[in-house]
Amino acid sequence: MKIIRTPRSMTAWSERLRREGVTIGFVPTMGALHDGHRSLIRAARLRCDALVVSIFVNPTQFSQTEDLTRYPRPIARDRALCREEGVDVCFEPTAEAMYPEGFQTTVTVPALARRWEGEARPHHFSGVATVVTKLFGIVQPDLALFGQKDYQQTALVKRLVADLNLGVTINVRPTVREQDGLAMSSRNRYLSTEDRRAATILYRALQAGRQAIEAGRGTASTVERVMRQTVEQEPTARIEYLTLCEPASLEPLEHVKRRALLLGAIRIGAVRLIDNVVVAGPDRRQRASRPGHP
Ligand code: AMP
Repeated sequence: MKIIRTPRSMTAWSERLRREGVTIGFVPTMGALHDGHRSLIRAARLRCDALVVSIFVNPTQFSQTEDLTRYPRPIARDRALCREEGVDVCFEPTAEAMYPEGFQTTVTVPALARRWEGEARPHHFSGVATVVTKLFGIVQPDLALFGQKDYQQTALVKRLVADLNLGVTINVRPTVREQDGLAMSSRNRYLSTEDRRAATILYRALQAGRQAIEAGRGTASTVERVMRQTVEQEPTARIEYLTLCEPASLEPLEHVKRRALLLGAIRIGAVRLIDNVVVAGPDRRQRASRPGHP
């Protein structure tokens, strides 16, 4: 496995392979890799000839008060995982190489970035959109893989690829969870033993919301109340948002017809957790149960 640190060498490597007709798969990460990242890497490995994983803790997507300097950076372990999974290149640029003196262009996806995570973290998505656009320019992948865990991010990346004609295929993979349902995250390591136990409440709330929809109680007020009441059973948890929304636009949904996205963020102590599930509404389920429907 090659370790490449400069954007220029990364692009040279990709251009050489692309000239030979090799397809390039790409998994952008901030490192501290876990089985969620591993599932993206494995899916990419199956779909492409060559595979690049980037490890870059992007400073522009953190706010002043967030955990940039504390963010875990177990680089030797990350490289070992990449090697194990047959990654060809680990791209590890420095912040100085990504944002040299004079850097000023940014990418924004205003409507998709406005709500939910965007509201809680005002500059976050502009940082994400800009770094993803840069990384695509540097790595020039045919295919890039992202996790459903960061649902709003996947919607935004698909939008910016379409809007800016970036020519990269985006593949979104299901959220990988711990046995008790907690979505894997590099930040879970900040949880104390007691908080780790409490952290499952977010997924349980989303499941309670799903059950309400499946039982035919698919109005926003009911679903959101059910989710809120579930989280409130856990005294250490503080709700940031728990919402029912439309899966493509992420706009709030009054009533579930076809498909719905349940989206939530809570805090347990100082740790912020996000998660989501997509649920089929009554119209979808009826169609699926009709004879002849695949
Ligand atoms: P990060 O390193 O947190 O920036 O994440 C890099 C990529 O891994 C993003 O596309 C995430 O959505 C994805 N990812 C993180 N956690 C999970 C998970 N539990 N399951 C699936 N994908 C994940």
